[in-house]
Amino acid sequence: TPRVVIIGAGIVGANLADELATRGWTSVTVLDQGPLNLAGGSTSHAPGLVFQTNPSKTMTQFAAYTVDKLLSLSDEGVSCFNQVGGLEIATTPERLEDLKRKLGYATSWGIEGRIIDPDECSKHYPLLNPDMVLGGLYVPSDGLASAARAVQLLIRKATAAGVTFIGSTPVTGIEQAGGKVTGVQTPDGVVPADIVVSCAGFWGPKIGAMAGMAVPLLPLAHQYVKTTTVPELVGANPLDPSNGARMPILRYQDKDLYFREHGDRIGIGSYAHRPMPVDLDRLPEVAPGQMTEHRMPSRLEFTEEDFLPCWEDSRQLLPALRGAEIADGFNGIFSFTPDGGPLIGQAPELEGFYVAEAVWVTHSAGVARALAELLIEGQSRIPLHECEVSRFEAVQTADTYVSETSQQNFVEIYDVLHPLQPRESPRDLRVSPFNCRQKELGAFFLEAGGWERPHWFEANRPLLDELPAEWKAPERGPWAAMFSSPISAAEAWKTRTAVALYDMTALKRLEVSGPGALALLQRLSAGQVDKKPGAVTYCLLLNDDGGIRSDITIARLTETTFQVGANGNIDFDYFTREARKQTADDVSQWVQVRDITGSTCCIGLWGPLAREVIAKVSTDDFTNDGLRYFRTKQVRIGGIPVTAMRLSYVGELGWELYTTAEHGLKLWDLLFEAGQEQGIIAAGRGAFNSLRLEKGYRLWGTDVTPEHEPYQAGLGFSIAKNKDSFVGAEALAERRAQPASMQLRCLTVDDGTSVVLGKEPVYFRGEAAGYVTSAAYGYTVKRPIAYAWLPASSSEGDAVEIEYFGTRIAATVSAEPLVDPGMERLRG
Ligand code: FAD
Repeated sequence: TPRVVIIGAGIVGANLADELATRGWTSVTVLDQGPLNLAGGSTSHAPGLVFQTNPSKTMTQFAAYTVDKLLSLSDEGVSCFNQVGGLEIATTPERLEDLKRKLGYATSWGIEGRIIDPDECSKHYPLLNPDMVLGGLYVPSDGLASAARAVQLLIRKATAAGVTFIGSTPVTGIEQAGGKVTGVQTPDGVVPADIVVSCAGFWGPKIGAMAGMAVPLLPLAHQYVKTTTVPELVGANPLDPSNGARMPILRYQDKDLYFREHGDRIGIGSYAHRPMPVDLDRLPEVAPGQMTEHRMPSRLEFTEEDFLPCWEDSRQLLPALRGAEIADGFNGIFSFTPDGGPLIGQAPELEGFYVAEAVWVTHSAGVARALAELLIEGQSRIPLHECEVSRFEAVQTADTYVSETSQQNFVEIYDVLHPLQPRESPRDLRVSPFNCRQKELGAFFLEAGGWERPHWFEANRPLLDELPAEWKAPERGPWAAMFSSPISAAEAWKTRTAVALYDMTALKRLEVSGPGALALLQRLSAGQVDKKPGAVTYCLLLNDDGGIRSDITIARLTETTFQVGANGNIDFDYFTREARKQTADDVSQWVQVRDITGSTCCIGLWGPLAREVIAKVSTDDFTNDGLRYFRTKQVRIGGIPVTAMRLSYVGELGWELYTTAEHGLKLWDLLFEAGQEQGIIAAGRGAFNSLRLEKGYRLWGTDVTPEHEPYQAGLGFSIAKNKDSFVGAEALAERRAQPASMQLRCLTVDDGTSVVLGKEPVYFRGEAAGYVTSAAYGYTVKRPIAYAWLPASSSEGDAVEIEYFGTRIAATVSAEPLVDPGMERLRG
């Protein structure tokens, strides 16, 4: 098996060593700069609260596995997990509503929980001030990890399996040759390796720099205190004073606080203070042999003044604390990232160098298992796309961006946040050439991947007066109404009945070229792209296990040049890596992959009158004979060279029109001007999302992820029948032999008015059996739509219920697509 070096023996590194050893990889060396009995990283002082529920299914699954694993790790009959349960309390009506939404996540992802009333909260947690609590979310399987002890047991277990652990040995450099990692440097010499995994926690950026890799995390200090003995707790937890607790772990998010018992004392963690970024070059120096629980590099001096308001808030919530004092406090360091997710995966430019950082104790074993699977089997069973280190765009790995966004995440960590809530800063990092016109039209922008994307245009508000009664949408509930506008109804109406311009610039575009381009795309995609230039093909990229790694469109522009519409930087990273390998294997089959997203732009010109508009500004043939559906050709629009593709994500006649960035504004103006007679408008993503769901077009990463195979996702049509081999072909055939248990279904909401947002649990035959992926109001079909994963035994016409903020909404499994199943509009 390959030689692996793991940097860091915290909870992540130790778990990874164990997960690798369990799978038979034992040529593993774990190095830590600190002594192995107490390495001095975040794990060495982590209080270990494990709240499993998370908006992300992946993160929740990581946590659930961590709980199982810590329960199974035991010594002298005591496991590393004290399953006291988790209680999140609400002291405001908004929080109580939010806890209902959170219970929805738990239910969707298979974690048992329930909303409990104030009396039951007090039963579970008798120290609570009964006058303050409005209710709580109780999750019985949450609890307390003994993280430092777990590390010791994992070291013992992995050592017995053959893993080598070496303490007090800092890694000082990463050895590489020919773009591949070959080992790590230490003061005692080089340790050779085929694979190096940095599990260095908040030191990650330092190790990353040694490997030439930007690791977008920010070390921040976070306050934790222990009280003196609380009289009410004396004798309550006699057995295990270190992890001794009986009451649930407690979150008081309205004041950014959390609590646990430590025997007869209470531990309090606070996110209420100012963000305190930490300079990695100014960590406390701890001489060898001097490491103690109170002296370690990840532990800074307590700044009591930052904690005092929290102490008052804590005593209000838990009046028993008035009988105690703060005994001991510190500012502990751990990692924050721009989007709050962990960083997992391989360096873009250095083969064999991996990271697993910005990981909480809560997710540690789950992340370690996923990475072990990734290394050994090529992919993890739990989808990693939300955690891939390559998910960030270049501008998002800048120190200034990482610092600002990570600090903001610290501040907002317990806030009630709407899923669409945009950050206020940094903004305007990436704008399309049409941005100035969009601003003139009163665009409401939300941000994604650094791009400003219009969701609707205030300039279209007057259309609401003309909007035919049957296109008027019912008013939404207050939560679903946030970051949405009734104007989207008018924009959808115009798209279905006249013509609209959509800015599609932000979608990732790659140019794949060279003599080996066709071979690369044929191998990586499950579609047939060996077609004449001018063909456009919708394709899936599969993993080795047949799961859907991405969905893309491949346009063959010339024999050796392809334009690929992809799903973000993860796809770019994958294509680049595979192109490099192919070129190295056979230089005559060289292939180049360029990210052309920023240097080009795209307008979707869509609607039944699109052809009338384009005829005014182009002499090229846009008839059905001139440019058929899913074909591309080079055209001129008002003299501007344009790559036109006959595609439409909203399901209407029209084209995606691509040109280079400098021509973008002119192209927009020409089309907008030409379309006046047809009533052309600019339309935003609010309308777009509704129209694409009506047409049944899946959004990868939301509706479909690597855990799904094509047929259960309703995408089997895209699998090439006339192609021998491609990545994932064999596994897909095997998976097909066994019917899938779940199927992506289209639901429509029976009352015609209740709009949901996604991730809500779906009840089928009385059981929580699935969850919503995307949802929108369908303006054309005049009903809310929700796509959902449901048992394959569900079928059209079945009644289901969607749970939204604790209320059940009746919905029906419907035939899809809801609009234009015969494709007359698209092919018109
Ligand atoms: P670490 O434990 O920091 O391990 C990284 C290791 O890498 C260290 O041992 C370090 O010595 C080693 N290393 C670094 N550089 C080098 C080098 N050059 N050479 C060799 N070795 C190197 N999480 C929860 O889930 N629940 C909680 O309740 C919770 N509470 C927290 C409270 C506080 C006050 C703090 C600070 C954090 C808390 N966390 C909590 C977060 C959690 O502690 C961390 O996310 C987690 O411990 C990180 O584990 P790790 O293995 O990635 O990093």
